[in-house]
Amino acid sequence: MYMINNKYYYLKRIKDKKKNLDLLLLADPEEEAIDKYINDCKVFEFYYRDILIGQGAIMQLSSTTYEIKNLAIYEKFHNCGYGKILINLLCKKYLESFKNIEILVGTSEQGVGFYKKCGFQFSHIIKDFFITNYKQPIFENGIQCKDMFYLKFKGVNMENFAYYTPTKVVFGKDEEKNVGKLAKEFGAKKVLIHYGGGSAVRSGLIDKIKTSLTEENISFVELGGVKPNPRLSLIYEGIKLAKENSVDFILAVGGGSVIDSAKGIGYGIANPDIEDVWDLYIGKKKTQKCAPIGVVLTIAAAGSEMSGGSVVTKEDEQLKRSYGCDNARPKFAIMNPELTYTLPKYQIACGVVDIMMHTMERYFSPVGNLELTDKIAEGLLRTMIKYGKLSLENPHNYEARAEIMWASSLAHNGLTGCGGIGDWSTHQLEHDLGGVYDIAHGAGLSAVWGSWARYVYKENPKRFVQFAENVFGIEKIGTDEEVAIKGIEAMENFYKDIEMPISISETGINLSDEDVEMLAEKCSNNGTRYIGSFKKLFKEDMAKIYSMAR
Ligand SMILES: [Zn+2]
Repeated sequence: MYMINNKYYYLKRIKDKKKNLDLLLLADPEEEAIDKYINDCKVFEFYYRDILIGQGAIMQLSSTTYEIKNLAIYEKFHNCGYGKILINLLCKKYLESFKNIEILVGTSEQGVGFYKKCGFQFSHIIKDFFITNYKQPIFENGIQCKDMFYLKFKGVNMENFAYYTPTKVVFGKDEEKNVGKLAKEFGAKKVLIHYGGGSAVRSGLIDKIKTSLTEENISFVELGGVKPNPRLSLIYEGIKLAKENSVDFILAVGGGSVIDSAKGIGYGIANPDIEDVWDLYIGKKKTQKCAPIGVVLTIAAAGSEMSGGSVVTKEDEQLKRSYGCDNARPKFAIMNPELTYTLPKYQIACGVVDIMMHTMERYFSPVGNLELTDKIAEGLLRTMIKYGKLSLENPHNYEARAEIMWASSLAHNGLTGCGGIGDWSTHQLEHDLGGVYDIAHGAGLSAVWGSWARYVYKENPKRFVQFAENVFGIEKIGTDEEVAIKGIEAMENFYKDIEMPISISETGINLSDEDVEMLAEKCSNNGTRYIGSFKKLFKEDMAKIYSMAR
């Protein structure tokens, strides 16, 4: 009986600890334990995509190809069971296609040796994993097992990827004067000029653009008023205006919010069969069609000028959601760093955070080290640290503004993530903060990131060590965990240096316990989705991070 209880107990313990698995393998089953497990632990089935048990699992694994990113195998306490057969089979036949397999085994040192030979890296021991009031498993070498060994298999590092950046970048002083020619090059006949507040008008930029379009015999209508966290209602207005005027090209003059709003309008124009474009953002509908978009960039931050993504807020539900497709990538982006000179310092700093976060969301990948992609990401982050500060010291420093502007585009056009799997948790957590409290995107990101990092770094401390060393030049003195924490602190100190918040309260919002619950509820779509890939985060994880970030 103790066997059943212990196995059952395994599952109980694991339920709380390892919810982020795609597959649970149960080696050495006893019928009763499984029945009990199936009957009593239905909750697992929400988390685990599939459950294979015992000998049947071996059969199934040898006849099917599973796409498994995370896997747990529970081996019998004593060291002779199906667990090894399973591993052996996995190694021979499937391991190459697996990434990041995690194994928890109650086994002896020799057992660990076996797994190491199969290519698993011994990660750490979970002390006193076994309950003490049951008889302890005793291995053939007489060692009593109290602990669980935690092993990770490092599979192929580089994921297959497609890299598509069709945006023609026209960079440098005065280039906005060529907007008419560029619009013509991409077939524009009737343009919707889309912009934000009055500054684009007051500075004379909109007039310059109108002149340039007129010179090329391109007619236009205009729609201003895009706010940060671009509103769905304005997108509806834009779609209506565009349809009434047979608009065939959208020119976004501004930063990420304007470009994202333009993409929303672009979906509306190109997909008459989709009644409500919001359906795209909430995952109800999909499309690859978007009207062509051109950009005159005035804020370096979001990277939307080269990306296919857009983020939109539905005001009445306080929901901020994203949608993307390759055809929403702008046809051209004019980038004159001088157009960013008049930005308030706060907005410059928010941009610096966002650019860095777009790189870090991709950098903290479960895939592991990627030589070239990592170096590009680390170089971009170091550039931001250097020129972010110089930019704030003197917003008219052309070199600094140019470096940041170029970085903003490269950080989000896919380059810094080639071969990896993005995490994007910080962005997802921020989306709900921003959606509810209308916090500036960059400020929301810096307020949450440190708490996310502290919550997840143990998944792969070495990744954080690499970050600390290569981005901040931190010397590798001490344990991996100590160096990882130093890297996280260095990042937070940089955010402090540029006067960005590292907690939510610093943005002026004090979350109650109920607020934390509400945010986690929203972010998890009422408990129906997880976020992240470095570590999968479920509703209660989200709540913990929001709470830590208070
Ligand atoms: Zn962002």
